[in-house]
Amino acid sequence: MTQALNPSVTPLKQSGIRAASARCQELGGINLGQGVCDIPTPQTIQDAATRAMADNHNMYSACEGILPLREKLAEKITNFNGVPVDPKTEVLVTHGSTGAFVSACQTLLQPGDEVVLFEPFYGYHKSILSLLGVGTRATQINLQDFSIDLDELAACITDKTKAILICTPNNPTGKVFSHEELMAIGELAAQYDLWIITDEIYEYITYPGFKHTSMASLAKFKDRTITLSGFSKTFNMTGWRLGYVFGPEEVIGRMALVQDLLYICPSTPLQHALLAAFDMPESYFDEMRAGFLTKRDRVLSVLRDCGFQAGTPQGAYYIMADFSKLGYADDAEAANVLMEEAKIATVTGRSFYMDPAHGKHSLRF
Ligand code: PLP
Repeated sequence: MTQALNPSVTPLKQSGIRAASARCQELGGINLGQGVCDIPTPQTIQDAATRAMADNHNMYSACEGILPLREKLAEKITNFNGVPVDPKTEVLVTHGSTGAFVSACQTLLQPGDEVVLFEPFYGYHKSILSLLGVGTRATQINLQDFSIDLDELAACITDKTKAILICTPNNPTGKVFSHEELMAIGELAAQYDLWIITDEIYEYITYPGFKHTSMASLAKFKDRTITLSGFSKTFNMTGWRLGYVFGPEEVIGRMALVQDLLYICPSTPLQHALLAAFDMPESYFDEMRAGFLTKRDRVLSVLRDCGFQAGTPQGAYYIMADFSKLGYADDAEAANVLMEEAKIATVTGRSFYMDPAHGKHSLRF
């Protein structure tokens, strides 16, 4: 066969994260690399999935997702995120929050457009944009104090920029964007007439002193904000592939049509099962946060004792740590030593930067 493949797929390669996970399993090590969770999916939701299949909810659903789930979501989005939304027109159940991101990008962006994101970034954001031919520019999150530089953000905006992409609580730094920061980012987006795409999948995982704020709850910016979230992290069900998105009616309506073409609909029986997630008591979320807080403090204190430098994560379940003082040549060597000698899988810093040199002295745990 002599026909060339689509050139946008040729730069794709298996992420190093999966290879590290495979090696870690071979060694019987501890996987602090891949963002997988070792807590079980709540039993009541698992039982509801079995029931949904037995009750024959096994066919395609509406491409927007089943209305009872969108109604439950609208209630949650109003109460938890502080964003009143219409379940019929402003909420879409999606194929994971990843599916929401793909549909949002297909709806809002064209090849040649640019998106500004914060670096270090979640690799899928950057890679999906690249796959779609969308350019990216990045402004830095300071790894020690999690500060951002609004002048640097403004300097990334060009006449091709269509959107600013935020992830809060942040993967990989653990930064929780403050109300003031979101206001300032929103003002810039308004000034340049940009969309704001915000990935809030870790919204329930915040630590004492930090509160999750949804960009869309700042009423001034609601009309330009597309909020992605999902169930993978909150209910430990990354394999269920269910997420959701809310935003302006005209965008959500188009996204539903894009989703119809790409995926037809999110998994029907699992949508029915997820109705049970809304009966989880407040204590479920408190215990989850408390559990992650204990683990954060334990890992952070060991890392600091070993000579790593890291800011204290404000949310999510990652630590991005700098090992400059430890003498390793680069992130690949540090990750390799940790894997082979300590049997601990991590992710190399370069995975989170456009220029791999910027991640040369860091690892994500
Ligand atoms: N967004 C962020 C920031 C993530 O860290 C992840 C998974 O690690 C996802 C999205 C994937 O979410 P989902 O499983 O809902 O597609």
